[in-house]
Amino acid sequence: MTDYTRYIADEAEMCRFGAQLIHAICNIAAAQGVVVYLNGELGAGKTTLSRGMIQALGYQGKVKSPTYTLVEEYPFPHKRIYHFDLYRLSDPEELEFMGIRDYFAADSICLIEWAEKGQGLLAAPDLSVNIDYAGTARNIRLIAASAQGENIIQQLQSVV
Ligand code: ADP
Ligand code: MG
Repeated sequence: MTDYTRYIADEAEMCRFGAQLIHAICNIAAAQGVVVYLNGELGAGKTTLSRGMIQALGYQGKVKSPTYTLVEEYPFPHKRIYHFDLYRLSDPEELEFMGIRDYFAADSICLIEWAEKGQGLLAAPDLSVNIDYAGTARNIRLIAASAQGENIIQQLQSVV
């Protein structure tokens, strides 16, 4: 399995890495939608990374943490990003009610914080992104979990 690690000094660098990651995702000819699980403790930088990804595609508004809404949608030409935060999910049935399967469409990129709370109801990831504290900095590790995920990491390695 392909993996990729990177030291992220500060918040600005996390946003820049988000830009590189979303461009790598957009550069692969994804046959299906792309699913990214974002793992790490509270405050690790999952939402910050998501914001970097979403704004790099030209979204000018605020990227809010979807803690209370569970999901925020960002439409772009030819694709949409769904940013999930399942931290407050109390009953996985809520995901059934919101029609969770429909979010995993061919033209969607799903970024999912606290995916473990939706275990069994979410699509399997193409990529797991693990963020660990390193003082005020962070260590980030990407692990490919599908052929698409491996393509994304290869694409990322070709530009950095
Ligand atoms: P999460 O979504 O994982 O709970 P957030 O992205 O909401 O975390 O918050 C991360 C916090 O950590 C922000 O306040 C951000 O400014 C701060 N921060 C400090 N250093 C970094 C870094 N290297 N990368 C990302 N965020 C950082
Ligand atoms: Mg968050």
